Amino acid sequence: MWQAAVRLVERLRRAGHVAYFAGGCVRDRLLGREIHDIDIATTARPEEVQRLFPESTGVHGKAFGVVRVPVGGFCFEVATFRRDIGASDGRHPDRVEFARPEEDAYRRDFTINALFYDPIAEQLIDYVGGRSDLAEKKIRAVGDPLRRFAEDALRLLRAVRFAANLGFTIEPLTWQALQAQATAIRWISVERIRDELDRIWSGPAPAVGLELLDRSGLLLEILPEISALHGVAQPKEFHPEGDVFVHTRLLLEQLRNAPLPLAWAALLHDVGKPAAQRRDASGRIRFFEHEVIGARMARAILTRLREPNALIDAVVPMVANHMAFKDAKQMRPATLKRLLSRSTFAMELELHRIDCLACHGDLTIYEFLRAKLEELPPEDISPPRLLTGHDLLALGVPPGPRIGSLLAAVREAQLNGQVRTRDEALSLASRLLSSGSAPPGAEAAPESRL
Ligand code: ATP
Ligand code: MG
Repeated sequence: MWQAAVRLVERLRRAGHVAYFAGGCVRDRLLGREIHDIDIATTARPEEVQRLFPESTGVHGKAFGVVRVPVGGFCFEVATFRRDIGASDGRHPDRVEFARPEEDAYRRDFTINALFYDPIAEQLIDYVGGRSDLAEKKIRAVGDPLRRFAEDALRLLRAVRFAANLGFTIEPLTWQALQAQATAIRWISVERIRDELDRIWSGPAPAVGLELLDRSGLLLEILPEISALHGVAQPKEFHPEGDVFVHTRLLLEQLRNAPLPLAWAALLHDVGKPAAQRRDASGRIRFFEHEVIGARMARAILTRLREPNALIDAVVPMVANHMAFKDAKQMRPATLKRLLSRSTFAMELELHRIDCLACHGDLTIYEFLRAKLEELPPEDISPPRLLTGHDLLALGVPPGPRIGSLLAAVREAQLNGQVRTRDEALSLASRLLSSGSAPPGAEAAPESRL
């Protein structure tokens, strides 16, 4: 990709233009991080870029002349040096004009993102002191931080995301401005907020991200349900670490580049506790059914953030199910096998592990489940069903809900090792049918209560 981008710059250069690599790719290269795309900034006007590269296309939505240029199987965004004018909505410039390279640097958000690199001369071009901030691991707004956050409030979240994900600190004036302007995040679309949050939670230091969001005031704006975990006291014998917020932060401290559903589930697993908190007769704090309330809240929060259904459908059952783990050793084989065969079990087991580490530190249930997973072959955990609805219709069961409950009872007996063959299953079904008794023990999974 680097070579292809150099060829692109050479071509612009031969046509008499200035052209640099710009922004994130320069930063990531200097940090020795993987580069996922290379943006190019040039004095060439968009029409000129399109003339030089006939295969190029205008970038939809970036009306002001960003051109996408394919070279050597890669695609590069080529933008003419520009400056932004006005920002009356707190999100976008009112107007954009072509400008000199240094002005293009001044419109960028943070000094570490405002570097150019001349790949022909192999020279860094630094109009804003980005190189020394990179060396000192500092997030510093370009120019006046208050103004820069007022122009585009998404920068508030970007500052937190870069600080957490790069392991940088936010320079004091930039931090003060961030705190002062935190409420402006309301003007930013929920999709852009969601994308930044996703990158913080699934990044290398989500707990740092949580702490910065909290101390800046951003958390109260975008995830008030998580702010509300502050000061929610828990019984000391189970939670020596402190309140629910502290506990949640300690879970996130265990995550490094976690799968996104696991990260969201960790953040949200106890979100129902403030609403569920009660004192029992002996005065002890209880959180009865907090996982049910929490699952409902998790769905509402993730829906509000317009997360995709696939993510919501993974996270909500993880929250709903997280208390089931404590009973793992007492479960009947069928219940245990249903737990082990859940599609999200690997993430749920990890959630259970970090949940334990974030309070009492006792991992016996985790070890027990790991051992079960090793010991039980997959065809034993989730064997093919012995009967179908057709088999029951053939036995003379009338169509209706009775079919489902009989099948569930047969499945239960199969997973408990009480029936092993199709014949045994058929005779169990006939016995249940003739006794007319309610089939035993087909339990509802916790999420079916939502
Ligand atoms: P990453 O791609 O890892 O998120 P990046 O720095 O490349 O990091 P992009 O969103 O791809 O971020 O943006 C490319 C460049 O455009 C940035 O490096 C920065 O110079 C500039 N930029 C992006 N968003 C903003 C913004 N909201 N305000 C000012 N400049 C921005
Ligand atoms: Mg980028």
